[in-house]
Amino acid sequence: MFELTASKIHDETKQGEAFAGLSSSSLSFQKKFYIESYGCAMNFADSEVIASILIDKGFGVTQNFEEADLIFLNTCSIREKAELTVRKRLTEFRQLKRQKPGMLIGVLGCMAERLKSKFIEEEKLVDLVVGPDAYRTLPALIEEAESGQKGVNVLLSREETYGDISPVRLNSNGVTAFVSIMRGCNNMCSFCVVPFTRGRERSRDANSIIKECEELFNNGYKEITLLGQNVDSYLNPNPSPQVEKGTVKPVTFSNLLEKVALISPLLRVRFSTSHPKDITDEVLFTIAKYSNICNYIHLPVQSGSTRILELMNRTYTREWYINKINRIREIIPGCGLSTDMITGFCTETEVDHKETLSLMKYCEYDLAYMYYYSERPGTLAERRYKDDVTEEIKKRRLQEVIALHRIQSLKSMQNEIGKTAKVLIEGNSKKSDEHWAGRSDNNKVVVFAKQNNSFKKGDYADVLITECTAGTLIGKAI
Ligand code: SAM
Ligand code: SF4
Repeated sequence: MFELTASKIHDETKQGEAFAGLSSSSLSFQKKFYIESYGCAMNFADSEVIASILIDKGFGVTQNFEEADLIFLNTCSIREKAELTVRKRLTEFRQLKRQKPGMLIGVLGCMAERLKSKFIEEEKLVDLVVGPDAYRTLPALIEEAESGQKGVNVLLSREETYGDISPVRLNSNGVTAFVSIMRGCNNMCSFCVVPFTRGRERSRDANSIIKECEELFNNGYKEITLLGQNVDSYLNPNPSPQVEKGTVKPVTFSNLLEKVALISPLLRVRFSTSHPKDITDEVLFTIAKYSNICNYIHLPVQSGSTRILELMNRTYTREWYINKINRIREIIPGCGLSTDMITGFCTETEVDHKETLSLMKYCEYDLAYMYYYSERPGTLAERRYKDDVTEEIKKRRLQEVIALHRIQSLKSMQNEIGKTAKVLIEGNSKKSDEHWAGRSDNNKVVVFAKQNNSFKKGDYADVLITECTAGTLIGKAI
């Protein structure tokens, strides 16, 4: 049985989840690794690349850290709380390390990149610190650490996309998968640490993306989410000679979406994340054209106040964003919409906050990820502005934003009652083996009784929605 949550892009229920990959008997491998992932979907996808690199070198995987020779935490730096969670988790391994002195502990990902070798000074039990672009060097670093030296590689790259590495699917339901299409970010939103921890933006070769998607489909997967910090600025980095001669155009995000959609009408395509400044009409028309590209867009706004958006360096105004929402609804009627919102950014006043609430009322998001501002060392905001909204006010405003969103998302669920949803079945419902759980095209979780229908995991079912809770639509197959 597995759990379905409202969205998989940043899934709170999966934070710290251990990798369960291929089954491995204790006799088959000399060394076993254990890996936990934190943060966004990109990090979870990276853990699948890391697993592939290690398994290729003869390491086995385990879900039990007590029997591991190597423990890895693939970390997130986006908010202070994410880093504190990892620090706390590390203390839990201290005792184990005393009992098993040969065991190595590695910190991977964004926190490794941000803190570099300082991590080793601060957390003596850490043996390896490896940034997001250095995973190919992990086997060599492990060897180094086994000889008693600390293994550190936090070099960022302008080229690395791990495009040739076939990720080992972790904790997979066998139906839905993430496929990374690009890495890094060039946007420099003033609150954000990502450009510093994940480096410059680079796109993965389109052919390797298509090949991975085709393989997934041939192995029974029915839904692919194309991942990147800013998918709409995707541009195929390896133009063919014809491109250079100007006879063939390079692959844009909308071309890529189309190519993936054309693999099979039975393969659903999703993508995340879109930056409002980059999503084009061309992308919207492509979504509208193919019924297997899901009608759902995650379009983070961050604030409803133009003044705050400017300080955040988001490069759009409130009005510009609203026009984009209108355009989406014009080209893709009924399109599901979600967002990210930050409350209490530097200098935010009650007037700015009211603008955020009114923008939310206008946009009627189906889903929202809402946070209070957490100052991150080294970001533009930390260097330029004072973090001057008190924690109490930040949290109170966040509660107001959450309360409004709850009302709106319930309304959006209730609007589905009486409609028929095409549901991709992902597995049993978490509450009962007598029910299937899946997702509608517009990304809502749907549960329905198996009764005597002949569906199986990975099938599509037409489900008449009869009732709902705040997070789940309930219906019956027709
Ligand atoms: N690239 C995506 C975008 O532009 O929306 C997502 C980046 S980030 C991994 C996910 C979300 O974390 C952001 O959209 C933002 O709402 C939130 N976030 C980033 N930095 C933050 C900070 N310093 N404090 C609070 N929330 C933050
Ligand atoms: Fe961070 Fe902005 Fe890049 Fe998203 S677009 S990763 S919020 S800098």
